Amino acid sequence: MSKSLSEILFEEGEERERYYNAVSPPLIQTSNFVFSTVEQMRRALSDEYTHSVYSRGNNPTLAILRNKLAKLEGAEDALVFSSGCGAIAAALFSQLRHGDHLVCIRKPYNWVAHFCRIILPKYGIQTTFVEEGSARAYEAACQPNTKLFYLESPNTFTFEITDIRAVAEIAKSKGIVTVIDNSYSTPLYQSPLSLGIDLVLHSASKYLAGHSDVIAGVLAGSKEMIGKIYNSEYLAFGAVLPPFEAWLMLRGLRTLEIRLQRSSSNAKALIEAIENHPRIKRILYPFHSQHPKNEIARSQMKDCSGLFSIELEADTPDEVILFCNSLKHFLKAVSWGGFESLVDPAITVYNFDHPELNELSWRTVRFYCGLESPEILIDDVLQALNILDNGATNRQK
Ligand SMILES: *Cc1c(COP(=O)(O)O)cnc(C)c1O
Repeated sequence: MSKSLSEILFEEGEERERYYNAVSPPLIQTSNFVFSTVEQMRRALSDEYTHSVYSRGNNPTLAILRNKLAKLEGAEDALVFSSGCGAIAAALFSQLRHGDHLVCIRKPYNWVAHFCRIILPKYGIQTTFVEEGSARAYEAACQPNTKLFYLESPNTFTFEITDIRAVAEIAKSKGIVTVIDNSYSTPLYQSPLSLGIDLVLHSASKYLAGHSDVIAGVLAGSKEMIGKIYNSEYLAFGAVLPPFEAWLMLRGLRTLEIRLQRSSSNAKALIEAIENHPRIKRILYPFHSQHPKNEIARSQMKDCSGLFSIELEADTPDEVILFCNSLKHFLKAVSWGGFESLVDPAITVYNFDHPELNELSWRTVRFYCGLESPEILIDDVLQALNILDNGATNRQK
């Protein structure tokens, strides 16, 4: 029988008798490991996937973390990287070669778009972006040389949903590898491997580490795929997570379930409190009744986490700026998944000189709900919306 969430988070792989019966796992801050004999050293070097030789590969603190993450995703193995982008690079470069083609959702994480548009073409790899997250759209974009489908569902500014089961099924029928960015849902709210996906990746800088103090990435899948990646891209690119960061992430995982619950319920309470305000044009949240793929979202996600966007009913960009500057508790910062609530308006990167180049409207404002009490967050957003109303009234006078 598979282990419960609590068993994985609090017990799995913690062999305390091996480290002085310490409750907390050991931080093995070392770069290399010694051997008693040349024969042992030779054996270890012939198979770095299963031996600790050098901390660019295996390290016991990372091993405890990797095992927990694999169990959480229902995967045979997981690798941890020094960033989500490190995991993305390993996933793409391990599965693609010169002359290959991939299909990617239209608005992935922005550095994935950079990979597809700028970096991969340098190596003779082309991308087709699909607007619609349906099996039909992915199939229609396929070419004879298509080797990979890249998914991110939901994506984390516009919260579009891909029909994961259906896309994975098309991929399987064509021998195409599927990769999904599961950062938004975490393994707790969505299990892509059980829906037929091959490789799952995370920016662990967000919920998994969870305290706005670690940059990390995860890649999980079968032993066969992960072992191959380990022996090639993982060791060669060297984007490995340092032991201290792995230790912090182990500590962060203890509270993953309750942090997610709080962040998620805060987002839902905030949405409910503001959705009918005249200054809210639209809510972008997969579990919101307005979401066009609400049903698919509910069929593949156990719950929806604490990140969402609004489109502000604003006449001018200045109104968006006034609204965001009026928030007292939502910190103005990128990222999400930590303890603190954040606001990230699309206007910060909006290109006003070339409006046609923008993926997002300048009216889009993204909120991350942290672990504060919901009243603080609700009051904060309502007072900022009301300032906007007063500002507009004053202008009209
Ligand atoms: C932050 C993020 C990434 C990149 O992860 P880093 O840890 O910052 O390298 C990838 N995907 C999503 C959805 C993210 O939010």
